[in-house]
Order: sequence, then structure tokens, then C-alpha cells
Amino acid sequence: MNVFVVNCGSSSLKYQLIDAQSEVVLAKGLCERIGIEGSQIVYKPARGKRSGDKIVIQSPMPDHTNAIRMVLECLVNEDYGVIGSLEEIGAIGHRVAHGGEKLASSVVIDDEVLKDIEECCELAPLHNPANLIGINVCHDLMPHVPMVAVFDTAFHQTMPEKAYLYGLPYRYYTDYKIRRYGFHGTSHSYVSKKAAQILDKPYESLKTIVCHLGNGASICAVKNGKSVDTSMGFTPVAGLVMGTRCGDIDPAIVDYLVEKEHKTVHEINTILNKESGIYGLSGGLVDFRDIRKGCQEGDEKCLRAMDVFMYNIATRVGAYAAAMNGVDVIVFTAGIGENGDQMRKDICEQYWSYMGIKIDDEKNRLSGEDVVISTPDSKVTVMVIGTNEELMIARETMALVKE
Ligand code: ADP
Repeated sequence: MNVFVVNCGSSSLKYQLIDAQSEVVLAKGLCERIGIEGSQIVYKPARGKRSGDKIVIQSPMPDHTNAIRMVLECLVNEDYGVIGSLEEIGAIGHRVAHGGEKLASSVVIDDEVLKDIEECCELAPLHNPANLIGINVCHDLMPHVPMVAVFDTAFHQTMPEKAYLYGLPYRYYTDYKIRRYGFHGTSHSYVSKKAAQILDKPYESLKTIVCHLGNGASICAVKNGKSVDTSMGFTPVAGLVMGTRCGDIDPAIVDYLVEKEHKTVHEINTILNKESGIYGLSGGLVDFRDIRKGCQEGDEKCLRAMDVFMYNIATRVGAYAAAMNGVDVIVFTAGIGENGDQMRKDICEQYWSYMGIKIDDEKNRLSGEDVVISTPDSKVTVMVIGTNEELMIARETMALVKE
């Protein structure tokens, strides 16, 4: 069955068409600047005459309906299409940011689920409304194709109360559902399972810590196959210092800045989300490759940003080793986790040698492969695994649609 995987943002849309039986990606790409001048679609077919090409079409996309229409046209295009007709799409899997407490696992989308996702818009105002647009547009264009929602929060619904409750008046939880939710669940679930598979150990037997380090970054403690704690919180701004997000800060800072900078709470919030983290610390750099280059050249700001980033990761992993009373496996994943070999080495050597962790330098230098980077006598196995949220969404979609 071919599953069309859709990840709809407010002005962008990432998509993949995956043969869910063979797990082969047939085509993938993204639409950028939807509703903004200069919109374009990037389309990469992986079979047919133009297999391996990167096709970029600049064309106005006033809204998401146009964008999805263009993607579908590409998929069936005579020259570079990968399927004969849209009938060959058996199901659609949607990435949805927030499922709240009610949507604790992937579900087939019906009217009631749509209502539940709508209710979660309040909790994820930047993401859920865009995800809903994607769902509605696909339903309009392909009304008979079953659709599944896969939630970023779902994997973390197994967290115990002690991990998800904040130290706030309890009624804020009962009245407003203020609690830690956590995000990147699809990635943490995929990567922790894959680690067990590679190590040939039962998933339920392991204590694993996954470090998902991309522009957005989070760490998750997975014990006996269940998420027991994670660093993002009520929203994805919490936890680690990230590309542009501040991570955990003292809440009193917001009030203080409102006064000092003569800004509104909303404006400060925007700064915490978009102008903080590595970007804020380095004075305007956000791409990890630029930070790494700066560090190699001895740039003070880059070294500072890198130090804070690594310290955040190292200490959070220490906390989660405590949360699980031990750790068997630590996995690095996502753009920075998969490519930052020097960073991985530095973290392991500077902060984790007390845990008996030893790194094999040669294996650590290998990029683009799922690999164990610790030595055989290391007390904890350290790995690098490429995340694949789209494949996970395709798997979940096929499983539910086949039921
Ligand atoms: P997100 O999905 O949150 O946007 P990604 O997982 O794509 O994030 O990661 C983006 C980050 O990964 C960027 O900071 C980028 O610099 C870094 N990255 C991607 N490829 C490489 C590479 N080859 N070497 C070093 N860093 C990389």
C-alpha cells in the first residue's frame, strides 16, 4: 500500500509517498512559502525516468489546497510521476503536533477525531491549525482515501504523573490541562525501537536515552519501551537550548524583560521562540555547521553557544539516567545528533566518562550510518541512528488502515 505522508506547517508542507510494505520512498519533497510571494515546490522522484532528479517548480500557491494539488500533479505527472493515478494512494498519514491527553496514540481520522484535534489547537496554536488545514484539504481532494493522524505528543503519554506535573496549583492541571506533554514522540519512538533492533535486544528490556538534536531538540528517557520523561514541556520551547528557542528559563525573566525592554509578553514570547537559543547566544548564527566552523576558528561567541548546548545535553542525560536508575543505551539522532561527531566525542569525554562511557573515535567519525560509536568495553552503549519520522507515520498509518 502506498501511503502519502503529509507534514503541514503554516506556510510549508513536507510530503513523502512511501510504499509501506517495502518501506521504499517513491517520492518526496516540500512546498515552501505557501500563501507568500515566491512559493515553490521541490519534488524528488525516486523511481521512473527522472529518478534521483530534484525538480523545482516556482509557481504561486495562494493556499494549502493549491500546494497539495501541485504535489498530487507531480506524483502522477507523465514525465516525472511515480504512480499511474491517484487511485494508487491507499492511505494518508498526517503528522499532528498535539493530541493532548485524549489522543494518546495514532488514530484513523473521523469527525470526532477532527473535533478532538481542533480542541488541541489552544495547546499548539502554531502547529495544530496548520495540521488541520492539511487534513481538510486532503479530505476534499481525496474523500475516499482513509487518513490517519500521528501525534508528536502521543509517545509521551506513558510518562508518570511525577514527570509530567509542574509545581503549580493542581487545579491548573485539572482546569487547563497545564502539564508536560513533550514532542518529537514519533522520532523518539522510532529511534529507541531501532536501537533495540540493531542491538538485537528486547525493546522492553532496555533503558534508553534518545537525544534528538535538530533545530528543535529534545531528549527522552525510554524505559521498558515506554517514554518516562522528556525535556520539552507544555510547549516545544521548553527543555534544551535549541536553534532559536531558549529552553528552560526562570519564569520570572519574562516579567523582568517586559519592564526592562518595554515589550509586551507576546513580544517577549516571540523572542524566546525565535531569537534565543544558539541564535541568541552566538549573535545571529543558527545553523550548526556555521557554529562548528566558528568553533574551529576559535570564535568566542560560537564556542560559548556550543558550550551551553553541550552542557544542556550532557546534564539532561545525567538527569534521565537518574530517572531510570541507570541507562543501557544513549542514542544521538536528527541533523546535529547525526552529523556532530566532534560534539558527540566532546560530550562523551567531558561529561560521561564517570558512567564508564568510552568512544571509538573511528566509528564516531562515520556519518550517515546507523552505528554503535562506543567501544565494546564501554559501560553504556552509545549509538548514532538516523531518525525517520515519515517512515514511522507510514507504518502507523498502514497498521491502522489494514485493521
Ligand atoms: P529540524 O527538523 O528541527 O529543522 P534537523 O534535524 O533537520 O532539524 O537538523 C537541522 C540542524 O542539523 C541544523 O543546525 C544543521 O546545521 C544540522 N546539520 C544538518 N546536516 C549537517 C551536517 N552534514 N553537518 C553538520 N550539521 C548538520
